[in-house]
Amino acid sequence: MNHIKPDKYGYYGEFGGAFVPEMLYPNVKELQEHYEQIIQSDSFQKEFKSLLSDYVGRPTPLFFSKNLSAQFGAQIYLKREDLNHTGAHKINNAIGQVLLAKRLNKKRIIAETGAGQHGVATATVCALMNMDCTIFMGEIDIERQKPNVERMRILGAKVVAATSGSKTLKDATNEAIREWINNPVDTHYIIGSVVGPHPYPDLVAQFQSVISEEIKVQLKEKTGDEHPDYIIACMGGGSNAIGAFYHFIDNGKTKLIAVEAGGEGVNSGKTAATIALGKKGIIHGSKTYLIQTDDGQIIEPHSISAGLDYPGIGPIHAYLHDSGKAEVVNVTDQEALDAGFHLSKIDGIIPALESAHALAYLHKMTLKPSDVVVINLSGRGDKDMLTYQKFM
Ligand SMILES: *Cc1c(COP(=O)(O)O)cnc(C)c1O
Repeated sequence: MNHIKPDKYGYYGEFGGAFVPEMLYPNVKELQEHYEQIIQSDSFQKEFKSLLSDYVGRPTPLFFSKNLSAQFGAQIYLKREDLNHTGAHKINNAIGQVLLAKRLNKKRIIAETGAGQHGVATATVCALMNMDCTIFMGEIDIERQKPNVERMRILGAKVVAATSGSKTLKDATNEAIREWINNPVDTHYIIGSVVGPHPYPDLVAQFQSVISEEIKVQLKEKTGDEHPDYIIACMGGGSNAIGAFYHFIDNGKTKLIAVEAGGEGVNSGKTAATIALGKKGIIHGSKTYLIQTDDGQIIEPHSISAGLDYPGIGPIHAYLHDSGKAEVVNVTDQEALDAGFHLSKIDGIIPALESAHALAYLHKMTLKPSDVVVINLSGRGDKDMLTYQKFM
């Protein structure tokens, strides 16, 4: 079995756990006690799979890129998460969590969002499932990400501005948590990545694991072997990466590579390369690596892609890294941009700037012709048009 599961307290080795304020304890405890039984049930799996296929458009294609393969001298495949409804992998998790909330008799969904991608996915599924939806977003992000704010409003969600602190993602998270504490009975809080207190990392990893489940079947069809030599994915909190890795961990063949956002360079002070710089600590309810000062204050991260602009990583990835089961590398803003433009020209696919980080790492690898490489294309670049235009 290649799955990765936490122990009953939510630990992956020394990472994870559930460090929550006492007032949140009942909410988290309710989830811990019920999530596994609910999501393993036949009726849940049936509804989840049917929505993934008919609403999201899964399975997403595994595209053999002749052009990249010729250029890099290897067999290069792109897993097309960019073709999902709403344009990224985030909807896999949003659907799973809304279905879970329904089975816990919740009437209302709250979520935080930075760039707005998780907010849009959540608002979309709430519209479909007739759930009341409130999205917390930093005041500055509301200004920076107008099109996504409009999308959420059209979908019927209420967007609430977080006006404290740096008025960005971490402040939106604080507001969402406050709201959850005040409404523990009827409200479910949807976290958008493999972060947060147990059981969120395991929950989100299970919902995203459909990505590697599909890759196995698709590769077997195309190459005769379900195990590639490499899987490469970008890493913010790490949900698309763990989704792409899940069924290949410890298989004795596949090298798993997570690509962090180096920003303007790991030593520039403007970076989100958590593993490169991070020290152990606690962020958003779990023990992991994070970028912090010597006295434990979180350092504001930077990345050209809003989805990777996070000062921590999920505890699963801290564990995979420390145990040598996965490798964590980083590329800069410029390298990601170049790779995004390159894929647009060479294959006619404009990738999300997050996904462009995974592509950029190809340029740094030494490959041989027989190597089978799968790159998880986590999302499409429509949302990044302004940034791409600025650097044309
Ligand atoms: C949000 C996002 C990411 C980063 O989140 P992970 O949890 O690390 O996957 C990556 N790619 C896209 C397209 C995103 O929207």
